[in-house]
Amino acid sequence: MSDARTSAHILVIGGGFSGVAAAAALRARGHVVTLLERHAVLGGRARSDARSEGAVDTGAQLIASSFTHTMRLLAAARLDATNARDVFVRDGKRLPIRFGSIASMLRFGGLGPGDKLKLGTTLLPLLARHAGSLRADDNDGLEALDGVSARSFVERAISERAANVLVEPPLNAFYGARGRETSLAFFLALGRYGSDATLLASRDGWSHVLATAADGVRLELNAHVDVIQITPAGAVARDRTHREWRADAIVIATSAAVAHAFLGPIVGETHALVRWLASVVTRPTWTVMLTLEQPLRAETFGVLADPSEATMVSACALPAGRWTAEDRSAGIVLAWPTPDAVERLANHPVAEIVAAMMPEIERLVPETRGAVARARVFRFDEGTPLAEPGFLAHRAFGRGLEEALELPVALAGDYLTMPLVEGAVVSGERAAGRIARILARA
Ligand SMILES: Cc1cc2nc3c(=O)[nH]c(=O)nc-3n(C[C@H](O)[C@H](O)[C@H](O)COP(=O)(O)OP(=O)(O)OC[C@H]3O[C@@H](n4cnc5c(N)ncnc54)[C@H](O)[C@@H]3O)c2cc1C
Repeated sequence: MSDARTSAHILVIGGGFSGVAAAAALRARGHVVTLLERHAVLGGRARSDARSEGAVDTGAQLIASSFTHTMRLLAAARLDATNARDVFVRDGKRLPIRFGSIASMLRFGGLGPGDKLKLGTTLLPLLARHAGSLRADDNDGLEALDGVSARSFVERAISERAANVLVEPPLNAFYGARGRETSLAFFLALGRYGSDATLLASRDGWSHVLATAADGVRLELNAHVDVIQITPAGAVARDRTHREWRADAIVIATSAAVAHAFLGPIVGETHALVRWLASVVTRPTWTVMLTLEQPLRAETFGVLADPSEATMVSACALPAGRWTAEDRSAGIVLAWPTPDAVERLANHPVAEIVAAMMPEIERLVPETRGAVARARVFRFDEGTPLAEPGFLAHRAFGRGLEEALELPVALAGDYLTMPLVEGAVVSGERAAGRIARILARA
C-alpha cells in the first residue's frame, strides 16, 4: 500500500452524488481517484437524460441552498435559483403551495384555520426546537421523533386531511414512500431543509454538474463492476467486460444491495455488516417522461395529487416551470407513480405502466390530453431507501459495523444517512474520512 502521507490510488464504485462527493474529497486530499460508473453518465438517481433540446433531470429535481455539504461540493458548478411554485390538485382545482417548507403551508388554501392553528402549535414548534439536529450529518437527540411515523403524528396532532395534504404528496412522489412508513424525524428534516431556503437546479442537468464536481477524478463510464477482491497488495475491481482496476482502497458508493453483493463473498454472508446491508429496505421508483407535440406554458413546477383522489400518480412536474424565462424543456412533463402503483405494476412493461398512469396524468396536467408524442420510463430499480420509523438508530448501527470492518473499504450512499442529495453527499464525505484513517494506519 502506498504511503498515506503522499498519494494513494483509490477506486470509487458508483457515480451518484455519494460517489462523486467521496471522489472529490479524496482528490482534495491529494489521492489519485478512479471512479467506475456503470451508466454512460454520472448522477445515479439524479442522472440527466441528454436530449437534443437540452438535458432533462430524470430523478432528483431540486436541491436546497440549506444543503451545506452539497453547496460546498458544487461550489464550482453553475446552479440556478428556481421559482419552483407547486400546486396541489383537489376536485380539479389547483391550490398553490410550496412543498418542503412547512411554514409556507400555513398560507395554503387547502387547509382550514383549525388545521393551521394546530400546525402552528404542534409541528412548527417541534421543527424549531430540533432544527439543529434535523440534518443529514447530525441527528443527536431525535430518538422520540424517529420512533413515530410522520402520518400517525400528523393525523393525531392535526387531522387526517392535513396528513393527506402535508405528508403524503412529497413523500409519495420524491421518496417513493408512504407517510406511515416514514419517520417523523425524516419528514421534519425535509421541512427544516426547505424552510427559508432557495431551491436550486441546473439548466445543464445534474449529470453535467457532477462531472464538474469530479474535476481531476479519472472517470470510467460504462464500467459495470461485477466483483471486487481485497488482497494483501490492495484492492481489485473487475467489470463485466473483464476490465480490471487495482488500487490501495475502495469506496463502494452503490445501493446497499450492490454493496451486499460485493462484500458477501469477501467477509461471508453471516458477517454482521453484510446482514445489516441486507436489512436496508428500499422501494423501486420510476419517472415517466412525456414529450408533448407542442411546448406548453409552464407557470408551476410540481403538480401534486390529493392522495384521497389519486391511486396511480402522486405528482407531475413541468421542468420548464422551474424558471422564469423560456426553457428548452418546455415540451416535457414528468410523472411519478404512487407507492401502490409501483407495487402493482412492478414487473409490467413500459407501455402498460404509461397506460395505467395516463388517465390521472391527464387530470393533473390537462395539456397532456391527446398531445403526447413520446413516452419513456426511467426505472430506478435499485430503489430508494425508505426512512422508516427507527431509521436513524438503524443507520447509526450500520455505520458502527462499517467502522469496525478491518479492510481498506468504505461505504457511501444515502442509505447510510438520509435518502436525499444532502444525505448522499454527507455519506460520501464520511467514506473519504474513513479511507483517510485507514491509509494513516497502514
Ligand atoms: C424520482 C426521484 C426524485 C428525487 N428527488 C429528489 C430531490 O428533488 N431532492 C433531493 O435532495 N433528493 C431527491 N431524490 C433522492 C436523491 O436522488 C438520492 O438521495 C441521491 O441521488 C442518492 O445518491 P447516491 O449516490 O447515494 O445513490 P445513487 O444515485 O443511486 O448512485 C449509485 C450509483 O452507483 C452506480 N452503480 C451501482 N452498481 C454499480 C456497479 N456494479 N458498477 C458501477 N456502478 C454501479 C449506479 O449506476 C449509480 O450511479 C430523488 C430520488 C428519486 C428516485
